[in-house]
Amino acid sequence: MATKPVILWFRRDLRLHDNPALNHAAEMGRPILPVYILDEHFERPMGAASRWWLDKSLRALEAALQDRGSRLILRKGNALNQLQALIGETDADTVFMNRLFEPEAFEHDAEIAHALKADGVECLGFNGALLCRPGAVLNGSGQPYKVFTPFLRALLATAEAPAHTTGPRQIQTPKTVQSDDLDSWKLHPRRPDWSKGFDWTPGEDGASQALSRFISSGLKTYAKDRDFPDRQGANSRLSPHLHWGEISPWRAIDRARQAAKDGKASESEADKFIAEISWREFSAHLLHHFPYITERAFRPEYDAMPWRKDDASLKAWRQGRTGYPLVDAGMRQLWTTGWMHNRVRMVVSSFLIKHLLIDWREGEAWFWDTLVDADRASNVQNWQWVAGSGADASPFFRIFNPITQGEKFDPDGGYVRRWVPELRRLPDRWLQSPWTAPAEVLRDAGIVLGRDYPKPIVEHEKARHRALAALKTVSGRGDDHSDRD
Ligand code: FAD
Repeated sequence: MATKPVILWFRRDLRLHDNPALNHAAEMGRPILPVYILDEHFERPMGAASRWWLDKSLRALEAALQDRGSRLILRKGNALNQLQALIGETDADTVFMNRLFEPEAFEHDAEIAHALKADGVECLGFNGALLCRPGAVLNGSGQPYKVFTPFLRALLATAEAPAHTTGPRQIQTPKTVQSDDLDSWKLHPRRPDWSKGFDWTPGEDGASQALSRFISSGLKTYAKDRDFPDRQGANSRLSPHLHWGEISPWRAIDRARQAAKDGKASESEADKFIAEISWREFSAHLLHHFPYITERAFRPEYDAMPWRKDDASLKAWRQGRTGYPLVDAGMRQLWTTGWMHNRVRMVVSSFLIKHLLIDWREGEAWFWDTLVDADRASNVQNWQWVAGSGADASPFFRIFNPITQGEKFDPDGGYVRRWVPELRRLPDRWLQSPWTAPAEVLRDAGIVLGRDYPKPIVEHEKARHRALAALKTVSGRGDDHSDRD
């Protein structure tokens, strides 16, 4: 009898290095059947930017598998049905996978494993996505942490870095198993193809190059420069690669620690970077333990916030036409490249929630569709952080001033001028608040407000007062009117 193959079910672990499921499958010493199943029915449907990324990442994975003598089988539809079909076709009796920890996916996987077991097929899940499994980091009373700093301390004390692995050099795969044609999945946008400005290299090699670039240049000034959106290379841009599992978070941490050891960056810079990666971890653990936060406020009193319905303002925000240059620059960067700098994400989300008093879920949904790093846990956690309703959130009364944020974090205006080119001739002094520029300055810069660039859709001070008044209706909050940046 021919040796039964092991099915290696790829999820968001699109890599061969540091892949626990692959390593375990290889240890079996049997043929391996790598498969990716596009199952869009059980989860929230992927956003358009995510589909763009997945298309390229699967091609990269397929090429990497081919280099090792293998191939990638593509199937579409209900994951359990597809696995059962594959098992029927190949006589496989084992399925290995790296688990997803979002509650819906986690439960769904458990159901699949249960059903396969009933068919006599062993289904084993590993952790390739996170530094450690949710549940492994709990406080003294056995409860999940709700505050980041003690979580970080406990995480770093608990989680152990696995050894770096490169995966088997040769992977033997049955040749006859039928696979879908990736083009038939139509993941890449057509008519129109809005992805021309997506300057990314999805896949394991792209992830590894992004990390190496960052370690050799950005890491040494990370803490100082990471908040300035115009500083090239100051951030790693690893987020989509981490989301799709093209690189292990441990790999990023190991490389940062090694750079500190080698004197290529200070320990505090490496620690800052590790702390940011741990925010990703914190988000994933929170969502795992508190599944309701995708729909409702972590702090229930915030569900009473009197949100406004204002489609015209929502549209202006999405299109980067609010009249606030830093907000508009961020929203246009997002639309054009599928990514936005973290500082600017904080400013645009605060603007939607507080200046426009529009429900954070509207913003979360737009980010979900347009970000290449759209991640259920990180997205929801961050939106609730800004909305003041999250676990370890920024207080609602902390209302970012989009003008002073621009002056502080884009002091030379390079970011705004890049993404809002109609303002490029406006001197720095008025760049973040064009409506305050004298008529002759606007004329010399070739700008007619309301024609070439919008007038502000809300006035900052009025909007701030409206937001604070709204907060007061939420169980008497809003007494502290500080407006820190
Ligand atoms: P770096 O500064 O190089 O940080 C390294 C890594 O740490 C990132 O790749 C990311 O994995 C992690 N990280 C950094 N900051 C955060 C954070 N605040 N929360 C969680 N992880 C973090 N990040 C996503 O990956 N997906 C999202 O859907 C997402 N939505 C967001 C929504 C809002 C409203 C805000 C304010 C932030 C959101 N973030 C999200 C977090 C953050 O903006 C991005 O992770 C970061 O900008 C990615 O760029 P980078 O890889 O260069 O980050």
